[in-house]
Amino acid sequence: MLAIAALILLAMGGMFFRDWAQYRGASADEEHTRGILDSTQRLFSTVQDAETGQRGYLLTGEEKYLAPYYLAIQLASGEMAKLKSLLTRTGDQPEDASRLSALLDQKLAELHKTVELRQSQSLEAALAVVHTGRGKQLMDQIRELCTGIQKREYSALIDASRHEKMYARQTELVMIAGSLILFAFLIAASVMTNRAVLAREQSLGETREARDMLQTTLTSIGDAVIATDAQGRIEFANPTARALLRTGEADLGGLPLDDVFRIVNEHTRATVESPVRKVMREGTVVGLANHTILIAQDGTEIPIDDSGAPVRGVDGKVRGTVLVFRDITERKQVEEATRLLADVVEFSDDAIISKDLNGLITSWNKGAERLFGYSAAEMIGRPISLLAAPDRAGEMLAILERIKQGERVEHFESIRRGKDGRLVNVSLTVSPILDASGKIVGASKIARDITERALAIKSIAQHADQLARSNANLQQFTYAASHDLQEPLRTVVTFTQLLADRYGEKLDGEANEFMSYVISAATRMRLLITDLLTYSRTVHHEDVPLKEFALKDAVDLAVHNLQLAIEESGTALETGPLPTLHADKVQMIQLFQNLISNAIKYRSDQAPMIRITAEQNGEEWVLSVCDNGIGIPAEYKEYVFGVFKRLHGNTRAGTGVGLAICKSIVERHGGRIWVESEPGRGSTFKFSISTKGASGGAAG
Ligand code: ADP
Repeated sequence: MLAIAALILLAMGGMFFRDWAQYRGASADEEHTRGILDSTQRLFSTVQDAETGQRGYLLTGEEKYLAPYYLAIQLASGEMAKLKSLLTRTGDQPEDASRLSALLDQKLAELHKTVELRQSQSLEAALAVVHTGRGKQLMDQIRELCTGIQKREYSALIDASRHEKMYARQTELVMIAGSLILFAFLIAASVMTNRAVLAREQSLGETREARDMLQTTLTSIGDAVIATDAQGRIEFANPTARALLRTGEADLGGLPLDDVFRIVNEHTRATVESPVRKVMREGTVVGLANHTILIAQDGTEIPIDDSGAPVRGVDGKVRGTVLVFRDITERKQVEEATRLLADVVEFSDDAIISKDLNGLITSWNKGAERLFGYSAAEMIGRPISLLAAPDRAGEMLAILERIKQGERVEHFESIRRGKDGRLVNVSLTVSPILDASGKIVGASKIARDITERALAIKSIAQHADQLARSNANLQQFTYAASHDLQEPLRTVVTFTQLLADRYGEKLDGEANEFMSYVISAATRMRLLITDLLTYSRTVHHEDVPLKEFALKDAVDLAVHNLQLAIEESGTALETGPLPTLHADKVQMIQLFQNLISNAIKYRSDQAPMIRITAEQNGEEWVLSVCDNGIGIPAEYKEYVFGVFKRLHGNTRAGTGVGLAICKSIVERHGGRIWVESEPGRGSTFKFSISTKGASGGAAG
């Protein structure tokens, strides 16, 4: 556009100059012609003036008439010279000039002669010259020549004026046309400029948008990004990069990358070549070697994964690099964990197998190899049904169906067949395997060899059986012994008593004293045997069925049985809300009776205060009998529950069987009994009992 505009302007200038020059030429011609016309006119007038002066003088002889004559003569030569020069300049009439000059000279000579004759001789002499007609002739010739010159010059003047107008018009036209073209051009140019500006603005906007977009992307991206120039100086670093490099808010722009991006090999600690240098050298995308550690500004070491790429300018030359890296600590941990898990699976004692939903084996560990005898190479890709025991093929299909429903099969005991046909007892745990979208794609199976366990269980069962039998025998024996012992003991007591009664007086004091020892020991022994019998009866209560009853009733009965002791001792008894139990009511009465009577028996100086409460703890009730008695030292808290075990035997009566009976009753109901106490601060006996009733007789 600019070139076209310049060309148009140049052409216009050329044309204008040409027309202007022509106009100026025509103008000059016109002036010249006017000069000739004026000059011719003035010359002729001068000649006329000279002639007029001459005539006046000739006629009058008065000198005053000669003044115009002399002036005319003086001017004539000047006028002639001027005209001559004008005519000569046009170049086309020099002969007219010379002719006119000659005629003028002749005329002036004729005039001079007559004037001189008048002066020197007479009028007649002068008139004689005039009468020759030579003067008139010369005057006519001069007039004719002047008229001819004027005519010609007039016509030249008209021509020049016409040319002048023409050139002026032409100039005007060039000016108008040129201006119009330039105006149109200006409008076209401004429209196009406008469009170009708009397009440029739009493209600038798009570029800005693209840059903003890139900036936002780079800022919010999870990977660290650093861009450098060709010399490896940082041009840009996104927030993730700053965070990984631990550079804080510092301005990284212009810093050499190597100053902040220090990388070493994880194992050798050797410095790893800067990726920028590598990219600049190779001109292609490069990745970092494995095991690269980034040493951040604060010394933190971060395992990274990294790649660098060249950034090329429009000319294709590499003008910088872009470095993308990320913290792979987590990935490494996951890899490590996965490797560990793979090792755990591989070296597990259990057989760990995975299969797809068609029952085809996809993995097979060493444990599976040991358990079933097949190698992984033999089994992978083959159906799991190869392991089925002869009558259990359906079971495998059923398990697979449950897996497809998303169910898990736990500790399912079954039998599988090994490579050599041997049957193996296994406990199976089968779980669905989900893909990333949560779809079930297969199953993992852990098979544990329980052949030995099965054998162990069998032997334990045998032992338990034996134990139960010998226990029963022992109970039988205790019962029989205590029962059978009672009879001879009664005989001993009866006859010793009889002996004392009948022969007491005949015996000496010492013999009587010995006899009283025998009676007291025998009485105590009877008490012991009675309690032992009660204890052994407790154990034998196993066969009595458990029933639902309100515990409060049992407690009330126990209190009722102890009414006398309670009143005598001034005991204050308080009972909280008590639950309904599924238990042996008679035994519960006995249990509370023992605990309450102990609380009274082992009282301190103060009147006994007993509080019976119940609280629920998960699936069991915990019942407490709390007293303000003498308490039990910590080291005897277990001891007191043993048969015949007593702490205060010398001061308070008893056989040491009461708490043993309590323990036996609680255990029969599947619970446990314990005591919380401190000497001098009372005791709280607690026992637990299932809210759902006893799980079965466990008295032994
Ligand atoms: P006994 O009361 O016949 O001695 P127990 O088996 O009932 O037998 O009790 C065993 C021992 O536990 C008692 O001799 C006593 O020393 C101690 N004992 C039991 N109950 C209490 C109690 N409430 N406070 C302090 N000591 C107790």
